[in-house]
Amino acid sequence: ANGDQNVTSLMIKNLPDRLRQLLGQISYLADQKGYSVFIVGGFVRDLLLGVENLDFDLVVEGDGIAFAKDLAEFLCGRVRVHDKFGTAIVILSDEFKIDVATARTEYYEYPAALPKVEISSLKQDLYRRDFTINAMAIALSQKNFGELIDFFGGKRDLEEKVVRVLYNLSFVEDPTRILRAVRFEQRYGFTIEPQTLALAKGAIKAQILNKLSADRVREELKHILEETSPLGAVIRMKELGIWQFVLPQAMVDEEIISLIERAPKETTHIKELGFLDIKVWLIHLALLVHKSGATIEEIDTHLRLNKEEQLILKNILACWEVIVRLCAVPGAKVSEIARYLNEMPAEGYVFLLLKLGDQRSVNYLVKCLKRMKRNKLLITGDDIKRLGHQPGPLFKEALQAAWEAKLDGLLKSREEELGFVDRYIKEREGSINH
Ligand code: ATP
Repeated sequence: ANGDQNVTSLMIKNLPDRLRQLLGQISYLADQKGYSVFIVGGFVRDLLLGVENLDFDLVVEGDGIAFAKDLAEFLCGRVRVHDKFGTAIVILSDEFKIDVATARTEYYEYPAALPKVEISSLKQDLYRRDFTINAMAIALSQKNFGELIDFFGGKRDLEEKVVRVLYNLSFVEDPTRILRAVRFEQRYGFTIEPQTLALAKGAIKAQILNKLSADRVREELKHILEETSPLGAVIRMKELGIWQFVLPQAMVDEEIISLIERAPKETTHIKELGFLDIKVWLIHLALLVHKSGATIEEIDTHLRLNKEEQLILKNILACWEVIVRLCAVPGAKVSEIARYLNEMPAEGYVFLLLKLGDQRSVNYLVKCLKRMKRNKLLITGDDIKRLGHQPGPLFKEALQAAWEAKLDGLLKSREEELGFVDRYIKEREGSINH
């Protein structure tokens, strides 16, 4: 199955000019400097599937770091080296990144490893990978440019639409692969091959997922929840009993399934209102845990979120119910709701649209968000200074009050805003002095 396929024409057909040109440059340099270079992994898989993939992962037989340095110089980019792992990243002037790894013969030894002397270092490198569909390479040297290297039947498995591990202890060795198997299965509409599924089930039963660090769980879960539609994977994880290990606070009931199903549409809605910075995975995460009553601390022991992620999640979980209730009150003031919304990250707006019960409340929330976007104050602290006031904590208070008045439609011009803060500060100073 090896060396009998050339995918050059597929690359010409499917790749944008820029990437084709880049592959040509890599190929040229590899020959000039005498390296054997291959492009591997997800790029090869997606090329054969006709799916766009801009991840360039190169494997070099020999000194990958030296090649990365040469490549950075040749392409006028920079290089970041990780000596410990024999890897490097070449970063081009437009921030396009090329990962370069060294294929080392002595590096990994596996339970079922073939006799070493007979294996090329590339084959060993590919053998340590997760699934056959991810363990293919394309040669980039000029003499065999475009040759598909497929030691483990990856192309056949792509055609048969199955996710298959390379050896029986694969999941034991790296339990994150259980999550990855689900992710690839659901993303491409494949199935986990029966033997592989049995191995996964065995590993799950043996509680192997407990061995993973919170960091690794988070990274893989994030990949899953960042998929355009993570619903298939979320349900599959429930079927396989994975949630109890990775995030016991996650609930996957009918309501949550339907919320996750609707999430992409509402995310688009919020983006169209001008809130562009949205971390989709945090919306999915919030949906999964919001009915469990879990605290952020409990979730954090499983996922070790960073400060920003913690704040986003915490705010959504703490505030959504209040806002949902306010939106349903007839005659609630825009400013009252906006006060909460202003503290809330945009991920929360999506969450709210999903959780609001009726169309009237949805319309009201959208109205508040639109006003928040459009009705920004025209004045700043400097303008208050020019009115003759001494800077102090009252400035912020006055601006906040003016903002709220403006949201409720009470201030129509810059002059009205100035008048409002002037009066506000004078009254407050008066009441403080008496
Ligand atoms: P995506 O399209 O989601 O980026 P990908 O296949 O590029 O998928 P990455 O996580 O970027 O996924 O990994 C790149 C390659 O590294 C994979 O194709 C696979 O060959 C290998 N790999 C990644 N994680 C593992 C793992 N846990 N065990 C073995 N091989 C892995």
